[in-house]
Amino acid sequence: MIEEETFKADNTAKIKEVFASIQGEGPYIGAKQLFIRFCNCNLRCHYCDTDFEGDCEEYTPEKLMEVIKQFDLRTIYSISLTGGEPLLSVDFLCNILPILKENNLKIYLETNATLPDELRRVIDYIDVVAADIKLESATGMMNSFDRHDEFFSICKGHECFAKIVFDDNITDEEINKCIELANKYDLLLILQPKMVEEQMSVTSVFAVTVLDKFLKKYNKVRLIPQVHKFLSVR
Ligand code: SF4
Repeated sequence: MIEEETFKADNTAKIKEVFASIQGEGPYIGAKQLFIRFCNCNLRCHYCDTDFEGDCEEYTPEKLMEVIKQFDLRTIYSISLTGGEPLLSVDFLCNILPILKENNLKIYLETNATLPDELRRVIDYIDVVAADIKLESATGMMNSFDRHDEFFSICKGHECFAKIVFDDNITDEEINKCIELANKYDLLLILQPKMVEEQMSVTSVFAVTVLDKFLKKYNKVRLIPQVHKFLSVR
């Protein structure tokens, strides 16, 4: 049961949708979550399949709490902040996360791990950080290892894992950089083959070859494709 709250500031955020579904990526696959999809992103990955711009609505914290209360929270493992990039709405998060925590809701942050200053402001309210390591070979954008490094340094002492979307352009240099970060911060690495529509963009043989390249140097690595596409859920 969520308590009525008075919010301190009139912050708003653009939110695309709020829906309950099954987590389809990473070590929490199969967990039922309440997804809050924030609009806007600071990156433009080539493989992005998320519409995070059309039909966005402005939410106040009060409005979002009203929507959340309509779900049966007894069936929800955690609230997933997803996007787009949720940390772009950090002022709004600073307002609403304390309220969600007071109501004993677990917070799961899905992020591209490029906004360390914003993370610093909310990290104490986050239970699980599901962070990306972005590869230039898959995103078509410059590598962000320096920003990832600073980001993961803030996650120390918090549950955090790193997801790496890859395709057949992944380089040995990128693999080594990922392992360097993982070693430094003791990260669980999730290798996720890039999807093209409903299919993996690489063969299973290639995916396992990449997994082996990681495992030869670092053992906390799992190969997990997206499964929500097989379940036909969002
Ligand atoms: S960071 Fe995520 S939401 Fe943003 S463009 Fe890349 S894949 Fe899409």
